[in-house]
Amino acid sequence: MSKKGSLQVHTENIFPIIKKFLYSDHEIFLRELVSNAVDATQKLKMLTQKGDYAGDLGDLTIRVKLDKEKKTLTVSDRGLGMSESEVERYINQIAFSSAEEFVEKFKDLDDKSAIIGHFGLGFYSAFMVANKVELVSKSHSGTPAVKWSCVGTTDFEMAETEKPEVGTDIVLHINDDSQEFLDDYKVKDLLKKYCKFMPVPIAFGDDAEAINKTNPLWLKQPSDIDDSEYGEFYKELFPFQPDPLFNIHLNVDYPFHLTGILYFPKIDNSINLEKNKIHLYSNQVFVTDKVNDIVPEFLTLLHGVIDSPDIPLNVSRSYLQADGNVKKISNYIVRKVADKLENLFKEDRAAFEAKWDDIAVFVKYGMLTDEKFFEKAKKFFLLKDTDKKYDTLEGYREKTKDAQVDKDGKQVYLYTGDKELHDAIIGSATARGYSVLVFDHPIDSHLIGKLEMGEENLSIKRIDAAPIAELIDKGEKAEDVLSKKDSESLESAYKALVDEKEFKVERKALSPNDPPLIITQDEFMRRMKEMSVMGGGPAFGGFPDSYNLVVNTNHPASAKLAALKGEEQSNMAKYLLDLAKLSNGLLKGADLTRFVSDRISQVN
Ligand code: ADP
Ligand code: MG
Repeated sequence: MSKKGSLQVHTENIFPIIKKFLYSDHEIFLRELVSNAVDATQKLKMLTQKGDYAGDLGDLTIRVKLDKEKKTLTVSDRGLGMSESEVERYINQIAFSSAEEFVEKFKDLDDKSAIIGHFGLGFYSAFMVANKVELVSKSHSGTPAVKWSCVGTTDFEMAETEKPEVGTDIVLHINDDSQEFLDDYKVKDLLKKYCKFMPVPIAFGDDAEAINKTNPLWLKQPSDIDDSEYGEFYKELFPFQPDPLFNIHLNVDYPFHLTGILYFPKIDNSINLEKNKIHLYSNQVFVTDKVNDIVPEFLTLLHGVIDSPDIPLNVSRSYLQADGNVKKISNYIVRKVADKLENLFKEDRAAFEAKWDDIAVFVKYGMLTDEKFFEKAKKFFLLKDTDKKYDTLEGYREKTKDAQVDKDGKQVYLYTGDKELHDAIIGSATARGYSVLVFDHPIDSHLIGKLEMGEENLSIKRIDAAPIAELIDKGEKAEDVLSKKDSESLESAYKALVDEKEFKVERKALSPNDPPLIITQDEFMRRMKEMSVMGGGPAFGGFPDSYNLVVNTNHPASAKLAALKGEEQSNMAKYLLDLAKLSNGLLKGADLTRFVSDRISQVN
């Protein structure tokens, strides 16, 4: 008995739309067909368990085969199968109308990438790559096998056929534009991408070995897993990455379902942070590795897997961000990550400190972008000083509260961005009993501002923001030993040597122990410039660097210089200026060459 009929048509042009749909994303047809096969297999297993099916299950492996001569790709399962009336219902009516609904919903969408990799098209996505689709199915219920075929018009054919085993074969006659899907490697790669952790074995061709792991680690109970398994799983997900630092096993049933494992990678000090290493699954089916809309940006620095059927998949970006479940999921993950870090800190502070440098950027990024995380992180965030000692915010405040409070009661933290460069100034600071912090990542200028806002009465200054004596203004003032005339002569000797736009010369009566000439940089301007480099701050990036040239009138060299005249004075001033520049890393290129060869010629 053969039957011809028409699919229930609401939109005549659904097939042309499907064919053109999401040009870059045609490959998802394979995921859709294999996940249908998985569903059918699991349904049959369930029927067997309930005692509703007594037949022999046999080998339930789903097979994906290519026939290059016939130009077909076939997905075969040994699942529950369909009778003729079920094909009529599920394929001709329901599947078609849901494909139609999907196309209708998205055909006008500008941002087609929003649904790339997202479910919806189902069975009919086969027509993106095939000009003819055949479905041969034998139901577990014992009804005769049925063969359905459709050539991408709204007409189909259906007839009884012979099929020895229960299950379904879907045969795609691959169209001319999609010949890539007849390539072994391509298809195997796609299976590995989308089906790697599906719950039923899936094999390519006649391979004995399945391409997937049916019981991925994230679905096991954390108590049943030992640490080495987490390590192995990481290697499996990201074969060429260095070992992660630690992991978090996510597992929640209410008010949404979510499982997963997130790993903390070592994050180095570069600005280019590696993202897109969290893979999103829905019931073990790979969806996407772009989770930006689902977790806060800073969490995308983590690596791993999230599996949740509760994340809506076939909707647009803006909708996702407003979705209640997505918000809850995102908050949940932020909280879990913060709790994990807090526990590590509490349980073994020494081990936490040892890992700090590798996770600091992550924590800072989180503190800057997520207020909830900031509040939690205050407890375990560590400040590092130039002696490689680590303190919490509270601990450091306590530690510096005697030596580093100015005359107005303001607490001052000092930091360097470059220990090597600031070696001399760090020495002067520690000699005064000051502690110097290390902030050497581009993100730090943002963080410093945030910390100052969060802690009352705190000012954070880079160690070259002023002469040491004035960094923390304790109200002490040295007497000026030079006469006004000498002091002015000094100032003009230096002014004659520099470009005023680059160096602003000023005189100060500091200690004779401070250097004769000190180069400082205004904290505010420098920070603004740095922030605009990192992005997010005001656009100060184009401004030239400007410095203050502080002449210490109380240094013995200054008295000597003031007593000189003409070329002699100018030569000595130049020498002192070169030395000051040299110790701030500002003597470069031709100036440095000249400086060095002048010194060498003095030896001769
Ligand atoms: P969905 O999977 O979301 O239900 P699809 O368009 O992918 O939508 O499939 C429509 C229906 O066709 C399925 O719900 C199922 O009833 C039936 N179906 C598809 N593929 C198979 C298969 N391999 N075995 C049994 N039934 C299938
Ligand atoms: Mg489906």
